[in-house]
Amino acid sequence: SPVIKESHVDVLIIGAGPAGVMCANALIQAGVNVRIVDQRPEGLKAGQADGCQPRSLEIMHSYGSSLTDKMFKRGEHLHKATFYNPGPNGGIEVGLNIWTSWRSYADYRTLYRQRTTSAGAVNAPTARWPFGVTLHQGAIEDIFLEAMAEKGLTVERSTIPTAALELSQDPEGRRDPTAYIAKASSGIRRGIVTLKNLERGDVEVVNTKFLLGSDGAHSWVRKTLGIHMEGDNTDSIWGVVDMVPDTDFPDVRAQSFIHSHDGTLFIIPREDDRVRLYIQQGPESDVVDPATGRADKGRTSPEKLLEQGRKILKPYRMDVKGGEVAWWTVYVVRQRVAERYSLHERAFIAGDACHTHSPKAGQGMNASMGDTHNLAWKVVYVLRGWSPLSLLRTYESERRKYAQELIDFDKWWSKLFHSKPRTEENQDGVTHEQFLSAFKKVGGFTSGIAIRYGSSTLVDTTHQSLATNLAIGERMPPHVFIRAASALPIEVQDMLPADTRFKILVFGGDISDDGDRAKLQALADDLSKPESFLMRYGRGDVGKWEVFDVLCFSSAMKDKVGYLDFPEFFRPHYSKVLLDDEDMHGRSGGGGYSKYGIDERAGAIVVVRPDGYIGTVVPLEGVPFLNAYFAAFLLQTDTRSAWGP
Ligand code: FAD
Repeated sequence: SPVIKESHVDVLIIGAGPAGVMCANALIQAGVNVRIVDQRPEGLKAGQADGCQPRSLEIMHSYGSSLTDKMFKRGEHLHKATFYNPGPNGGIEVGLNIWTSWRSYADYRTLYRQRTTSAGAVNAPTARWPFGVTLHQGAIEDIFLEAMAEKGLTVERSTIPTAALELSQDPEGRRDPTAYIAKASSGIRRGIVTLKNLERGDVEVVNTKFLLGSDGAHSWVRKTLGIHMEGDNTDSIWGVVDMVPDTDFPDVRAQSFIHSHDGTLFIIPREDDRVRLYIQQGPESDVVDPATGRADKGRTSPEKLLEQGRKILKPYRMDVKGGEVAWWTVYVVRQRVAERYSLHERAFIAGDACHTHSPKAGQGMNASMGDTHNLAWKVVYVLRGWSPLSLLRTYESERRKYAQELIDFDKWWSKLFHSKPRTEENQDGVTHEQFLSAFKKVGGFTSGIAIRYGSSTLVDTTHQSLATNLAIGERMPPHVFIRAASALPIEVQDMLPADTRFKILVFGGDISDDGDRAKLQALADDLSKPESFLMRYGRGDVGKWEVFDVLCFSSAMKDKVGYLDFPEFFRPHYSKVLLDDEDMHGRSGGGGYSKYGIDERAGAIVVVRPDGYIGTVVPLEGVPFLNAYFAAFLLQTDTRSAWGP
């Protein structure tokens, strides 16, 4: 086809699934010149993934409350989870019998409560919203598309990449397809991707600084970059049916995990009275072609899947209201992770393009959105000339490790899920302690709350002991503080929006005490010095706080101090100074220092990254330490233009 156009962009995203739209939205909100294309002529109407875990809700909220408002309104809220096990005489029963056989009633009650009263109790004790929300993937994507549209960004549909080449001063470079995005050291800043519109046949040559392949499990970008997937070939196969049920199963509106003599079934309640059934297909299942050993959707049907489901659910009945299923598929999952997530930190892959795993932990879409939430702010920093390209290496180190943990978890959880309790006769069984600790781990993992990034230039745990209940490398847990000026209760996470700034949370001790106040004033003086990180990296050209936001929390009580008692440095605006005390009605607030494990007098400074994860914690005298921390990945104002747009 004739080339009709050549263009330039800072970031080109291939694929508008959850990973792609999360990234596109984050970048457009940050004012980046970004384009996103997708081969589909229109958005997803049904099917694929179906739910947001508690951490994903927190992440969405950090891009604006309108995103979560829509999720809560349009989706189904999952507050209850139940477990069923094979009954002794066939059929199924609420999953308690395996516990009572080896535990006291008290333990059994505890487990029962943990397992059945609320998914929150099991899942995410520290989550801001301790429950998941289910909604079909296309509708979740729509929420991002609506936010993007407000900034004038839409998905260019029916469009695919056809070639990716290096733009190099060296003509040889053009012929090396794997090196199309130039190495940083060569000083070349662009790569070329050709895009083809499938409806019109037009071809466009796009010069891009960064390329993101969020183009799903069969990623064209990954293959073009020559990145291989690593992992087991053991496929887990699931039949998936979305429908409005007609049933006498009592827990049909709870998230239900059912193990029976006839197989495994999950029920996920969904929007509009629907449910999704996940029916595991064993190796002997009809769906596997005996000749090839591969799953073939053509070998089954929704009727067959439902028949399997009915057997598993015996003695309960399960029919389809109205007789018609809304969507169905056979979903084959390979547990694999890409060997690399990037090429020279210029081209990246994210989401299913770099990791796939079973739906048991409900992570596909959530992990995918988490990838690009991690990546987007780092790309912004490099594009603005605030950070060197090397910052982007932490994308792979943080997210690939997590994907591997997820797959290990997936395997281990599956094994545990199906294993029998340890008894005198069965010494290979699982002990009660193993199961209890498994439960904790499960909650952390499936909720996304316990994702912890390891030590790196961005994560420094040297002073972990200053905030014993905050895990450096994990996301900042929610808590309500009150404004010193007005006693207005404020959720701390609402002060940590994904606005690309680092948040410096100063827990400044008790300012009603002269000694503590003097220490806080000394910190203000340190922060005002020219060598302080705030002054070196923080002042944008127009003199505003572009890179950092500073918030100060005192342990003093509201009847002892007012907002003017904070050193002037910390109150450029009254909203920046807060107290760890109850609101005027005693309904919220108070106890934040002890919740975070911070001494009420000694205090601490907590650095929260733009993605909401805790980067480091230092003492109030720790400005020199912070200067070194930020020097490791931020560039001074005078060297900033290196990668500037
Ligand atoms: P995707 O959602 O796959 O998005 C990739 C996007 O890239 C798509 O919009 C696609 O059109 C586009 N694209 C692909 N190639 C190109 C190209 N060459 N050019 C332009 N655009 C391209 N998860 C569950 O938890 N439960 C399920 O039941 C379930 N069922 C699934 C069924 C199917 C058929 C599929 C494909 C996936 C299913 N998943 C399911 C997985 C879940 O959808 C993914 O984990 C999640 O969507 C990952 O998000 P992503 O953005 O990485 O990729």
